Amino acid sequence: MCHWRRVRNTYRRCGHAFDLPDEMIQCDNRYCKFSLTHPSTCVPPSCTASCWQYRQFPQQYNPQIDAFCPSCIQQGKAA
Ligand SMILES: [Zn+2]
Ligand SMILES: [Zn+2]
Ligand SMILES: [Zn+2]
Repeated sequence: MCHWRRVRNTYRRCGHAFDLPDEMIQCDNRYCKFSLTHPSTCVPPSCTASCWQYRQFPQQYNPQIDAFCPSCIQQGKAA
């Protein structure tokens, strides 16, 4: 099912965290209203009955990166 992906990079060396822009993840489920394979002929009220009308909860990713963050590197703190 289509959902947003939310990524927060945490940089271990300095402890700063940065949120990346939310990314839309598309599925190819014919029964998902947001999918590219969802037929354009499928419209309410039948669509409401057969298809997902909402995006799923966002998936959170929190990768831990063993480095200094870009802004620390820019400011020369990462020497
Ligand atoms: Zn979908
Ligand atoms: Zn539909
Ligand atoms: Zn930093």
